Amino acid sequence: MAVLPIVTWPDARLSTSCAAVGEITEEIRALAADMLETMYAAPGRGLAAPQVGRLIRLFVMDATWKEGVRTPIVMLNPEIAGFSETVIGMDEGCLSIPGITTHVTRPAGVTMSWTGLDGLRQSAEMAGNAARIAQHETDHLDGVVTFDRLDDAARETALAEYAA
Ligand code: ZN
Repeated sequence: MAVLPIVTWPDARLSTSCAAVGEITEEIRALAADMLETMYAAPGRGLAAPQVGRLIRLFVMDATWKEGVRTPIVMLNPEIAGFSETVIGMDEGCLSIPGITTHVTRPAGVTMSWTGLDGLRQSAEMAGNAARIAQHETDHLDGVVTFDRLDDAARETALAEYAA
């Protein structure tokens, strides 16, 4: 296992739509393990493959470890299969946009569907931090970062804060 270097915005790889993961090889398993180690070391609650320079649809997350319980999840080819009508605004950090948080409004709950490292498709309803992280990381696989979720004025303010 290894802690990988994290790509920071505006690196073009963070604005690129990623390719589906095909066969689950040893290399994919090793990448997922390295990404979890990198996420915990950062420290963060989620990390997507493009953030370590790999343009494939894979992310790792752990919504609870900062509260003392590790619940690592590796999602391959994740999809947001459903989301709540209720939306909520929360301050989000991003390991690729260090030093600032941005206030992003998203659905409060989602149903995620993904392939695990065992090759099986599964789904789960998520709320709270888990729903937030899963949406943020799925965005990364589509080349979308928090800045892209802001209106023009908020984006300008956030970009100025990031540049400072
Ligand atoms: Zn991020």
